[in-house]
Amino acid sequence: MYLKGVYMDELVWRANVHEQNAVTDSVPPTWTKLGGRGLIARVLLDEVAPTCDPLGPYNKLIFAPGLLVGHMITSCDRISIGGKSPLTGGVKESNAGGSTGLKLARLGVKALIVEGAPVDTRWWILYISAEGGRYEPADDLVGLGVYETAQRLLERYGSKVGMAINGPGGEMRLSAAGIMNLDKDLDPSRISARGGLGAVMGAKRLKAIVVDDSGGAKPPIARPDLFKAAQKDFTKGVMDHPQTTTYADYGTAAMAHLCDGLGGLPTRNFSSGVFEGVDKISGEAMRELLRARGGEANTTHACMSGCTVRCSNIFADEKGKRIVSPVDYETIGMVGSNLGIDDLDAIARLNWELNDLGVDSIEIGAALGVAAEAGYMEFGDSTRAMELVDEIRRGTALGRLLGSGAAIVGRVLGVQRVAVVKGQAMAAYDPRAIKGTGVTYATSPQGADHTAGLTTRSKVNHLDPDVQIDISRTAQIKMAGYDTLGVCLFATFGFANAPNAVRDLINGRYAWDVGDDVLQSLGREALQLEREFNRTAGLGPEDDRIPEWMTIEPLPPHNSVFDVPDEELDQIFNW
Ligand code: SF4
Repeated sequence: MYLKGVYMDELVWRANVHEQNAVTDSVPPTWTKLGGRGLIARVLLDEVAPTCDPLGPYNKLIFAPGLLVGHMITSCDRISIGGKSPLTGGVKESNAGGSTGLKLARLGVKALIVEGAPVDTRWWILYISAEGGRYEPADDLVGLGVYETAQRLLERYGSKVGMAINGPGGEMRLSAAGIMNLDKDLDPSRISARGGLGAVMGAKRLKAIVVDDSGGAKPPIARPDLFKAAQKDFTKGVMDHPQTTTYADYGTAAMAHLCDGLGGLPTRNFSSGVFEGVDKISGEAMRELLRARGGEANTTHACMSGCTVRCSNIFADEKGKRIVSPVDYETIGMVGSNLGIDDLDAIARLNWELNDLGVDSIEIGAALGVAAEAGYMEFGDSTRAMELVDEIRRGTALGRLLGSGAAIVGRVLGVQRVAVVKGQAMAAYDPRAIKGTGVTYATSPQGADHTAGLTTRSKVNHLDPDVQIDISRTAQIKMAGYDTLGVCLFATFGFANAPNAVRDLINGRYAWDVGDDVLQSLGREALQLEREFNRTAGLGPEDDRIPEWMTIEPLPPHNSVFDVPDEELDQIFNW
């Protein structure tokens, strides 16, 4: 079917874990002009019963590169992974950097759809290459952490492959489990974290998917001159944007001071929006620390080939020995200030453990915050936090509870202050101080997800309830569009500087003759499909709400509550 180094037509790959086969199929016409997040919503609507058990035989695990993936355009090779979420009960797309997207695209994979239920309790690796797909036993890897698993698979398959790995969290089918992807340096560090997709992979009994693109090639470009000019324009737009320097210097950790300044940095289980220890865990503090430590420490690192933003980092200990890569703001916020921990070394070590377990640091940080409030740890006690994470590793009842996410921890331990929407934990932006992001949390079909429409950089009064719907709507449409293209959030500054680049890249790549509004129209389509899936799955307007306690309990220092009216939330998608 494939010739070495020659790109053939895009195909849908179906891997049925019951039949243990992997077959290719033509792309249905209604799927052709979608990729990434939008395509996942389309596949779910077309093929997955919305009321199915997320961990049962009828759910599907979908890997879909975005429409622009495959060309090493800066920061535009993300992989979207999706399915029905065991955490929210609705649609789920969780995207990540690394090499999985690029390698699938170079094999001509429009979507890899894992379906069915295994016949027994054995574990498997799904190996995908230009020759097709095959299953290989993985029982020797059961129980191993993500890092050791990656090491063994690299020894087995060589260093040219991409991988999506399931950790112990996914093996235990924990709702906080994600799927870890190799970065360009073969470090399994780029997690499709949110919504419990690792549990879906665990239910399919897949320990890893290995992607060998050695027989593949770059996807074809219909109009090379147009594509090349747009790529140049976009790259210049990225390089010229001041935020690119900020992200290169401080990474996402730059957000710590910004959010603290806005009074929206989750602190001690969302009981305050400012943290007295912020100076110790900020992007500035981390940069200074890593520069002083040297060795393997690196303040600027790219997760994928071709990324010029390089927001990632390598965190090393006092001897310059790598602890983990990257330490991102979300982990700093949720495992740091949200637990009252002001020690970057402790946060980095917790981060490594969570990565190795293959679980979402946002969801676990939120769950630990709730557990702390219930008396299971003192805020600020990083040793106890590590012990609780170890409970997850050991699969104890308490560990499985924590690994099931903040909502269920709150219910079981009798804590009301639980920051979730649709059962999924909020990220490190308190919606009472950053209300536009609160609107996104409430109304995104993805549940509380900052990447669905972050508003922190909008030039508005973030406390004013009257201006938030518009900025959230705009951000949600744009992000759904970018997630359909496979574009990293931090590359979107480049598109802001090069307004025709999205249109020209699409027309250059596919010759579709799309117009100026292509980003918005892709975003709207994705959101509409997602909302339709959620509706038929039983999620209604009553689920598009911030928890009631956040509308009552004032958040210091502004003593604000979330007060965007429900009627306005209900109108946000009436464009
Ligand atoms: S900007 Fe950061 S997250 Fe985005 S592609 Fe580059 S390194 Fe990865």
